[in-house]
Amino acid sequence: MRELRFDPLRNRWVIVSPERARRPSDYLIEKRSQPAREAVACPFCRGHEARTPPEIYAIRDENSAPNTPGWRIRVVPNKFPALRIEDEAIRFGVGIFDVVSGAGAHEVIIETPEHHLTLADLPVEWIKDVLMTYRERIRDLHRDERLRYVLVFKNHHLAAGASLTHTHSQLIATPLVPPTIKEELRVCRQHYQSKERCLICDLIRQERRLAERIIYEDENFLVWAPFASSFPFEMWLLPEEHRHDFSSLSDAHLMAVARVLKITLLGLKELLDDPPYNLVLHTAPPPFKRPGHTDYWSSIAYDYHWHFEIIPRLTRIAGFEWGAGLFINPTPPEAAAEYLRQKVQHQTVADAPADMPSGKAG
Ligand SMILES: [Zn+2]
Ligand SMILES: [Zn+2]
Ligand SMILES: [Zn+2]
Repeated sequence: MRELRFDPLRNRWVIVSPERARRPSDYLIEKRSQPAREAVACPFCRGHEARTPPEIYAIRDENSAPNTPGWRIRVVPNKFPALRIEDEAIRFGVGIFDVVSGAGAHEVIIETPEHHLTLADLPVEWIKDVLMTYRERIRDLHRDERLRYVLVFKNHHLAAGASLTHTHSQLIATPLVPPTIKEELRVCRQHYQSKERCLICDLIRQERRLAERIIYEDENFLVWAPFASSFPFEMWLLPEEHRHDFSSLSDAHLMAVARVLKITLLGLKELLDDPPYNLVLHTAPPPFKRPGHTDYWSSIAYDYHWHFEIIPRLTRIAGFEWGAGLFINPTPPEAAAEYLRQKVQHQTVADAPADMPSGKAG
């Protein structure tokens, strides 16, 4: 039984998903033996398709059958899902507490059949296909009225939360808008209501002028070390073109995103020796109207602006951060930007190497 429970004191929801680890010993095993266990048989490698649940989506060679080799990118349900699509989204109360039963989706996007590559190593065209896969899965899940958000994210390395080292992203679709997104949406809407401008567009204009925290810029993108970065070397990839919805991007647009994402990740890899990091995609929720919230997203196309956030995991969230909800960042973003700028700006990437295998989406 999976469900979301509301903490009235903290004013936030928690996903309780008992399938993932039930007994105290499960945690001990996970801590000790994960890398060793994986060396035996990685379920994400080519030829091991039967070790994952059946694929939901794949980019694969014309004549290859689902769940067999011949794929380049493969999406499968998470074997230990935090939330499941089969469950219903029922809202109920338990005394003063609020619960939503756990309808949702938890999918794994396997970015390549090769075990030893990282996302940054993949050709730009291939990264474009990974982004296209994000887009297609978001579009598909946005058709399900029970779901209120689809969060795409990536945990790179065990220290960033990856349980398998084979490069992959994940998505979790939830029956409510997650608090971090909700707060961003609220702040952006408020800014728009008082100024009739997009907060992120404003931010891009100002930071281009100041140039202190810019890691990379061209006419289409800004890679930025946020003024109030919570983590050392935190980076946001901000598209110049105002769009609220990542799933509305064209293939050509995704190609441009792939190029800047690749050089950003290569720069990070070079500067900090392939550090663990989290990548998250912040985009608009599905556009359904809710009873009682008829104008809830009415200005979203004007007030919200999709972006990627990249958090290198170099410090631990410790007692103070946990107890206070305040982060201590030992590296000023201006200094981080300068270090990163030197590494990111000299990366050169080819768009489509000759050995790119062709593939079709299906
Ligand atoms: Zn593998
Ligand atoms: Zn904007
Ligand atoms: Zn964000």
